[in-house]
Amino acid sequence: MTDFTSLGLAEPLLRALAQEGYTTPTPIQAQAIPLVLEGRDLLGIAQTGTGKTAAFALPILHHLADRKAPAPRGGCRVLILSPTRELASQIHDNIRAYGRFMGLSSTVIFGGVGARPQVQALSRGVDILVATPGRLLDHVQTGAARLQGVEVLVLDEADQMLDRGFWPAIRKLTGLMSKNRQTLFFSATMPEEIAKIANELLKDPARVSVTPVASTAERVEQRLIHIDASQKRVLLAEMLRDSAIGRALVFARTKHGADRVAKHLVAEGINAHAIHGDRSQGQRERALAEFRNGRAPILVATDIASRGIDVDGVTHVFQFDLPDTPEAYVHRIGRTARAGASGEAIAFCAPDEVVKLKAVEKLIAMKIPAEDRRSPAARAEAEAAQPKKQPPRGRGPRPQGASGRPQGAAPRGGRGMPPGAAGARKDRNWRDSDFRNSSR
Ligand code: AMP
Repeated sequence: MTDFTSLGLAEPLLRALAQEGYTTPTPIQAQAIPLVLEGRDLLGIAQTGTGKTAAFALPILHHLADRKAPAPRGGCRVLILSPTRELASQIHDNIRAYGRFMGLSSTVIFGGVGARPQVQALSRGVDILVATPGRLLDHVQTGAARLQGVEVLVLDEADQMLDRGFWPAIRKLTGLMSKNRQTLFFSATMPEEIAKIANELLKDPARVSVTPVASTAERVEQRLIHIDASQKRVLLAEMLRDSAIGRALVFARTKHGADRVAKHLVAEGINAHAIHGDRSQGQRERALAEFRNGRAPILVATDIASRGIDVDGVTHVFQFDLPDTPEAYVHRIGRTARAGASGEAIAFCAPDEVVKLKAVEKLIAMKIPAEDRRSPAARAEAEAAQPKKQPPRGRGPRPQGASGRPQGAAPRGGRGMPPGAAGARKDRNWRDSDFRNSSR
């Protein structure tokens, strides 16, 4: 089995990894690190939760230590672009942790906060810059940031970048960089549009992919509760009082909905925050910090705000509303069961969400163990409204691996499970069997 030493990483990195408690590289790390160390461009298909941050961060840190050079004034040697502020902060935290014995400089830049400290940090130049594209482009346009010196560019969560309309900004940014740079490109999915962009940006890339979607779905204990829409909040508060719940993420479909749910929980004496795109940066950071430190262990989030949130020990994921796209169901349940741990995912389904439920079950190729808590009237109404024909499936790319499970395969977990049985068992030794992976 590969270990980090045999990958040839510099000693200060190995020391930092030992402190992090990492013993075995994850499959994406074992595949990507040697290729990046060789200087190859890389096309990686991997989601958060696979260890992809370290897969690019470790060889980059090694490269910086190996080829020492001053950081270019107003710029950086390594640029990492991320679609959200939260993910940018997280990547930066990881870089600092892995590089703690290396004496490198780094900073993170995103919108929603004052620009002046960012301009100051940039003026001196940094080894590593983690940024969201919009704010970085602002700095480029005012002349505060210069990108000519970028040796390595990382694009993380490229499919999210596309969804969030960042491509025009990214094109402008990459147009300013040297063609001699090394480019690492990561995306959870590879629809045609993303493949085209990758083709434009990468030179003869090595490809690596790990597709943990199906295995994530298998590792998480899933339950479904049919319930009247008006009863969801009461049921949620009741379930959150269960002492087996350590840290729970609750997904709502809209920002308003997230606010309403969080308010209701607080009124019920449950310490919860909402996190979504309309909250200020300060509010988002406080909510995340209190979620992490356990002061407010319930976080009510919309899908956009939750992307890439990497908090260990999320024991439960509640889907207060089913998502508009079935793929989001899989991403949501993947917020628990991170880094090899397992978790419990509970979805509420109101009578008017049954079509969405069918789409989810088709995607994950299993029927989620369900219980029915609807009022008799709602049940009768839902049964009467059952469509004769199968509803069309939601559009959008099918996460890889989700189809790898045979139709009708027996689902794990379910109603009979003791409360909290899933817990947050964190297993830091990655097993290859957790992933289906391939490299070319
Ligand atoms: P990521 O996909 O980069 O968001 O990483 C997911 C989680 O896995 C993070 O909490 C990392 O700290 C953790 N992690 C990454 N690599 C390893 C490893 N080799 N061993 C154990 N945990 C890891």
